Amino acid sequence: MPVNGLPPYDDSNIFARILRGEIPCKKIYEDSFVLAFHDINPQAPTHILVIPRGKYCSFADFSATASEAEITGFIRAVGKIARDLGLETPGYRLLANMGEHSGQEVPHFHIHLFAGRPLGRMLPTA
Ligand code: 5GP
Repeated sequence: MPVNGLPPYDDSNIFARILRGEIPCKKIYEDSFVLAFHDINPQAPTHILVIPRGKYCSFADFSATASEAEITGFIRAVGKIARDLGLETPGYRLLANMGEHSGQEVPHFHIHLFAGRPLGRMLPTA
């Protein structure tokens, strides 16, 4: 069920529960700014979710209200994860859904990192 991606933040969302350790995840990387783990329903051979530790509903919320340190820490972590996994060659795709038309389902900001095969066109043609 798509969400609108706007505050207020819902503390009961699934990624908030993963961050609190209430639900397990297959962790790939963590630091003081982010947690990265495998998507439960992968759409590519590599499908990783990177989420900030802070309570942000979406990219819109994160980009408008996160601190400079959180934004820098998040972006650097995404790049590091891809680099450390050897994904820079032959490449990868980042995707962030925001709001109902994007199909965002979890109201905690996350970036999808896809890799492991040619990823086709950016959007389905239909
Ligand atoms: P969105 O549509 O919000 O951009 O993407 C949400 C993603 O979260 C989906 O790709 C979905 O498979 C993933 N997801 C939903 N629930 C869980 C969960 O409990 N664990 C993990 N690892 N991924 C989840």
